[in-house]
Amino acid sequence: MPERRTSRTLAVVTSRFRLGEADRVLTLISPDRGKFKAIAKGVRKPTSRLGGGVEPFAELEVALAAGRTFDVVTQVQPQRVWLGLRSRLMSSAVAWYAAELVERATSEEQPEPELYALLLRAWDLLEAGLPDVLVARWSELALLDAAGHAPELDHCVDCGRPPQEGEALRWDERAGGIHCVNHGEGAPFSSDGLRLLRALRRFAPEQLAALRLPSGPLQEVDRALRAAIVHLYGREPKSRTFLDEVSA
Ligand SMILES: [Zn+2]
Repeated sequence: MPERRTSRTLAVVTSRFRLGEADRVLTLISPDRGKFKAIAKGVRKPTSRLGGGVEPFAELEVALAAGRTFDVVTQVQPQRVWLGLRSRLMSSAVAWYAAELVERATSEEQPEPELYALLLRAWDLLEAGLPDVLVARWSELALLDAAGHAPELDHCVDCGRPPQEGEALRWDERAGGIHCVNHGEGAPFSSDGLRLLRALRRFAPEQLAALRLPSGPLQEVDRALRAAIVHLYGREPKSRTFLDEVSA
């Protein structure tokens, strides 16, 4: 029998589905392999050695054997576990949402350590008890920036003029940012909304958590980033729908 290629990597599980009686197919992302799929055999049996190891919201050291279609998980060693995310519904909804955002932006079998770090950072912020809404908006903007789709916030995407205080702006996710009062189409966007969006990019979320974020601009930013994410992926992420249900 030919020897099976084996490997080891750090990874997090970003989604999983059932296969047959007792197996699961996991989607994993890792700092040095990007996105990949692997089969966890027998993982749904109560006696499984892997079982508890592939719970969500954990960074795992995974041992893999090359399989015909997917790698097979042979061993799992949790390195870090974000236990708080499993017990709080809102936080876990945002944590799944951040995982889907990062999973979709990550290429298969290509190292993307920046995107991987972004996901772990989002989980850290939630675990530290930062407001779920703040972490959700921060994750969206950080994802857009890291994935090469950074929205233009400093100049009108048409004429290049910096917006004035109080100017009636527009947000156009297809054009990739803000329009001044003289140009373009899109949803109305206030300079208060723009100030908040810039703060999300410029400051650490821990600094923003200390402030009371105004609800009007927060809603504008929510709509703007949602539109940008839908534009990037072609549809609403599934976990965003779940997050909306939990928030309501
Ligand atoms: Zn303009």
